[in-house]
This record gives sequence, structure tokens and C-alpha cells, in this order.
Amino acid sequence: MESFFEQMGFKTFHARQVLKWIHKHGVTDFDQMTDLSKKLRAQLKLMSEIRVPEIILEQPSRDGTCKWLLELDCNNRIETVMIPDDGRTTLCVSSQVGCALDCSFCSTAKQGFNRNLSVAEIIGQVWVAVRTMEQSLTNVVLMGMGEPLANLDAVVDAMSIMQDDLAYGLSKYRVTVSTAGIVPALYELGKVSDVSLAVSLHAPNNALRDELVPINKKYPLEELIPACREFVRGDKRRKITWEYVMLDGINDSDRNAKELIRLLEGTPSKMNLIPFNPFPGSGYKASPPERIEAFRQRLMKAGIISITRKTRGDDIDAACGQLVGRVKDKSRRTLSDDESAWGGIAK
Ligand code: SAH
Repeated sequence: MESFFEQMGFKTFHARQVLKWIHKHGVTDFDQMTDLSKKLRAQLKLMSEIRVPEIILEQPSRDGTCKWLLELDCNNRIETVMIPDDGRTTLCVSSQVGCALDCSFCSTAKQGFNRNLSVAEIIGQVWVAVRTMEQSLTNVVLMGMGEPLANLDAVVDAMSIMQDDLAYGLSKYRVTVSTAGIVPALYELGKVSDVSLAVSLHAPNNALRDELVPINKKYPLEELIPACREFVRGDKRRKITWEYVMLDGINDSDRNAKELIRLLEGTPSKMNLIPFNPFPGSGYKASPPERIEAFRQRLMKAGIISITRKTRGDDIDAACGQLVGRVKDKSRRTLSDDESAWGGIAK
């Protein structure tokens, strides 16, 4: 933004003023930016626009969670979820329209992939949420639709606005990016950002992980784990949050727990066990609660802090892996069922 102002022949400090107007004060009309000269305001109106995603649908859940369906343009809709919990309010933000990684147990994956979100579309979700919800925002997780590290540049810029005191002022411990494990992007992220890291592990060995999280074939565990360790190196307070979906009879045995403990030895870890959220045609079942608890206890005994993630917003399909929005799928050749249902908008 500073170079934008410079190129227009204005002082760079106006970037800070505009950032504050938009994100701290929620102003979307240049004429309300009273500390900018009339000349500058006129110039800004000619050269730029302030546009926020439009709320198409607001779905409140029985448990206080709220899901927004946001329209970006006529082909693309994404979902954003607000999760209040014990004095915290976490916003779960999307980074792409759909997802190309095709994890076998994720319903976003079944929608296919259309495109990356821009910085404006990512931070726009935060802007809309903050202006819509009653509570103040305390945490952001990039755990919505998409693979954030496949859209690294935009995600990094949006997260820096989340952390900026002129905007949302969230600390590095309160902004978390979650990845299925795009190893080169993880090293890049470590160089330019200090946010918290969550990694979708889901399996303790390559054979099983290849099946559940196919990106593992490209970046297997022996590359992923060192990349994660490098990310938290040098900060004793930091741990990797591992996400592990509990699939009945697939990855939830005592043997799997033992393997997992061995895999994570020496890595500062926190384990999030996620009860599988079913969706039609998934072919998986959630592990029974007793199995999840036994698995958790095994990890705890081995010194790995482990929690079972509370399922939130499942009555409105807002739980992990259930976000779908509307995706014009470019990754498949044939018209998907969804596209025909929208009257062939895609073509
Ligand atoms: N692509 C990123 C961001 C998504 S985060 C990533 O993979 O980390 C969403 C989390 O929910 C991921 O850990 C994902 O693997 C998990 N998830 C996906 N589908 C799920 C389902 N049906 N039930 C429970 N968790 C699921």
C-alpha cells in the first residue's frame, strides 16, 4: 500500500491511515476518511475501490457457532465460521475456493478446486465477521476451505494484516495456519511469518497417509516432520499442533498410537484429535468416543499433550471438513453434479 501511495505521488504514511480506517474503523467510503485531503480522496476513488465479501446466508448453530456463506463473484462462494468458546472467539477462515488436495475424508475436497483467494478476500472474511458478531475476535485459524500454503503469498499478507496493530492486532499465538504439509511452502512461511502452525497429520506412517492425505506421496513424513521441527526451532514456547482425524478402524488402533508416539519423538507437539465429521458418501465412520479417549490416554502417557477437539456447528455443516461454499470446479474435466444444479453457470 505504501508503494501504491508513492506511485500516485502522495506520502507513504497515508497507507497507515487508510489501513486503520478500513480495518479498525470499518470504513468503506473514502469520504469518511476525514484526515485525508479532498484531493487524495478524489484520487483514491478514481484508482481503487473498497469491496467486502457479501453475506449471502448467515446460519447460527444451536451451540453458538455461526457460519456465513460469502459471495466473492457470481461463480464463487466460500464459507467462514465463527466459534465462541470459554471467553474466546475464533474465526475459521477460508484460503481458496474449494481445495485441490483431495484428502479422502474431507467434504471440501469433493467440491473440487477453482481458484486462490486474494489478500482482500481472505482479510475480507475477518472484516465481515468483526462487523457482524457481537463478541470481540480473539483468534483466527486458517482452517476453512482450501490449503493455505498453496496460496502462500496472499495468506502471508492477510495474516500480517491480522497481526497489525493498525488493523486487528492479534498476536502470533492467536493466528494459526493449518496445512496438509506442503513442505517447500512451509520452509518459505518460516522465513517470512511467525504465526502458529497446525499440521494435518492424520496417519502415523506413509502407507496410510498416502491414502488419507495424498499430498503425502509428494512430501512424505520423513520430509514433513523435519520441516515442522525447523518451523518451531528457537522458540521454546512453540509447539506444532497436529490434527488427527479419528476414523473408525482406519487410524485409531493402539498400534497406530504407538507408531504416532515414535514418529513425534523429540518434536514439540500438541495433539488435536478430531472426531470424524461424517458426510454423505464419505465411506468412513467416526471412532467411538471410548476409542478416541483410549487413544488420547496413550498419547498423554507418552508425554504428548492431547485434546479431543469439540465438534462445533455440526448441525449447520460448519464442523471440520464440512465447508463447501460454491465451487466452480476447474480441476475436473466433466461438469460436476453441482455445476449442473446451478444451471451450468460454469460454462
Ligand atoms: N488444508 C488445510 C486447512 C484445512 S483445516 C489442512 O489440511 O490443514 C481443516 C481440518 O479439518 C484439517 O485438519 C482437515 O484434515 C480436517 N478435516 C477434513 N475433513 C474432516 C472431517 N470430515 N472430519 C473431521 N476433520 C476433517
